[in-house]
Amino acid sequence: MQSSLSLSFSHSSAAPAISRSPHYSQCFALTDSGRLLDFRFCGLRREALGFTSLKLSDNNRRVQLPSRRHFKTVAAALSDNGAPPKSFDYDLLIIGAGVGGHGAALHAVEKGLKTAIVEGDVVGGTCVNRGCVPSKALLAVSGRMRELQSEHHLKSLGLQVSAAGYDRQGVADHANNLASKIRSNLTNSLKALGVDILTGFGKILGPQKVQVGSSNNIVTAKDIIIATGSVPFVPKGIEVDGKTVITSDHALKLESVPDWLAIVGSGYIGLEFSDVYTALGSEVTFIEALDQLMPGFDPEISKLAQRVLINPRNIDYHTGVFASKITPARDGNPVIIELIDAKTKEPKDTLEVDAALIATGRAPFTQGLGLENIDVATQRGFVPVDERMQVIDAKGNLVPHLFCIGDANGKMMLAHAASAQGISVVEQVTGRDYVLNHLSIPAACFTHPEISMVGLTEPQAREKGEKEGFEVSVAKTSFKANTKALAENEAEGLAKLIYRPDNGEILGVHIFGLHAADLIHEASNAIALGTRIQDIKFAVHAHPTLSEVLDELFKSAKGVPRCCPSSDTGHEHISRPVKEENNSRESANSLRMDERNILFVWIFNLISFISGCHSYLYSLVLRSKNLFTS
Ligand code: FAD
Repeated sequence: MQSSLSLSFSHSSAAPAISRSPHYSQCFALTDSGRLLDFRFCGLRREALGFTSLKLSDNNRRVQLPSRRHFKTVAAALSDNGAPPKSFDYDLLIIGAGVGGHGAALHAVEKGLKTAIVEGDVVGGTCVNRGCVPSKALLAVSGRMRELQSEHHLKSLGLQVSAAGYDRQGVADHANNLASKIRSNLTNSLKALGVDILTGFGKILGPQKVQVGSSNNIVTAKDIIIATGSVPFVPKGIEVDGKTVITSDHALKLESVPDWLAIVGSGYIGLEFSDVYTALGSEVTFIEALDQLMPGFDPEISKLAQRVLINPRNIDYHTGVFASKITPARDGNPVIIELIDAKTKEPKDTLEVDAALIATGRAPFTQGLGLENIDVATQRGFVPVDERMQVIDAKGNLVPHLFCIGDANGKMMLAHAASAQGISVVEQVTGRDYVLNHLSIPAACFTHPEISMVGLTEPQAREKGEKEGFEVSVAKTSFKANTKALAENEAEGLAKLIYRPDNGEILGVHIFGLHAADLIHEASNAIALGTRIQDIKFAVHAHPTLSEVLDELFKSAKGVPRCCPSSDTGHEHISRPVKEENNSRESANSLRMDERNILFVWIFNLISFISGCHSYLYSLVLRSKNLFTS
């Protein structure tokens, strides 16, 4: 798993280098001694977007930030590595300034902790520099290209657009500029909040002791968080040259748009790249080891996604096969991919393509971290942790004052999960026992349309139900009845709710459709807060909005308890009793109003009738009078 990683140390500089194995063409920017790197940040929190003030939620005051003066520069050499230090340079030291480390640092400052963050490469980690941020910039372009290329779609909106085109370098610049912008916002926010950014590779020397860069740079901290993230995982037999056989790191740079691109792996990263590259003109072939594409999604959602995102596009696929060997294009030959049967391992096929993108997952970046110094054995490179992110040593004991968050622990390899785990650790070390519910963390795939999910898939929920003895029900709604989706002419979509009819608990929600990634939060917040269907179905949604898809979904759940209190969640439906009273008062009032209206209309009609008769009689009299006189 980790064979693709290597760590090299530059002896000439104070900071060691983090580099990839020789088959990665790219070595990341390294630090000069004493100079702060251009640290970057993922825009997960308000501060990341250039707003540098934090506010206390309880009294709405600005947080009093500890003055920079109180931060001393990293002091050198401490006592014996094995013994914990008696006093500390910092309350909290975070190794890795990716989104996880950043989220933890901001929260630590908010909690008044003296905090430092160690980074051996550039601030922002994967998400900002090689992940979420640049990929979403490319997807913003691919979404527009798709729209402009769909004659049928434009015509049905009454639009006429001449042929759509793009400038490859312009698109690449858009992604790169966005990453730079978020990165500098991130850096500035850390600096403004008084977090010390320590440049160099962090290595744990012993309890509460970390070496930063050179061996005489040792920092102590009461609590330490490992947030060292991950790198692309490249299976054995695949040779990455960074030009024709690439990982997501290279694909995001958009140095070329190959005519035929093979994507190995159909998880969310592979799927997002298929959206980008097909919109820009590539033909894509997926190579997937499992028997179905998009194996991580709820089966019903992946079936629909295949119908919309794969079948009508320039995409074909091979499932149930491994790419056992991939050779980059050279000497006028194309990229050669040898496929074997995933089960029998027998040779199956050979593909010749222009480029291959390896999207087979991520490997934790934990080598050289000094885990052996505290008797921690990684599991396939991941740092073992308990539910509070506290590190577990080789004997199964919790390591005091040491935590690991984000991709490095492998619990949920997503940016916001890393950040949320970081926040949960800070809560722990500042005295609140806060355990993060990973089943409430949403995930999204930013294709066109998007896919999002939270909680369990239907098969997972059914398995759990069988084991624990409860019934599982499913409710679904389509985007086809949603006014906003129809107005946008993008009504292909489905929302699916998996729940317990006995108590109304939401077990999972899966959405495929326009802006699914934004819509999922109503469900994920409901799960996080323990809100049941019998409560949330009374929530009001603005009309016409896509959020009405979820309104419909919750309302369509059958068999849930009629009303609250929400049993074991312990909280009552807050608005219901008041609402019921109000409702009955309102309906009594409206009845009285109706009666008055009917009476009024009746009298009006009577008068009209009488006056009508009167006019008629009068006209008759006039007419007869005329007859007599003529
Ligand atoms: P990282 O972001 O990897 O940061 C770790 C940092 O630690 C790095 O800066 C590294 O240089 C530093 N470091 C490592 N070792 C050391 C050391 N010993 N000393 C000092 N510094 C060290 N997630 C989402 O939620 N949404 C998305 O849309 C999304 N899109 C993605 C698209 C792509 C193409 C990819 C590849 C990933 C995407 N992800 C997305 C996943 C997301 O990027 C990661 O889950 C997230 O970055 C993990 O954060 P982290 O803080 O754990 O680690």
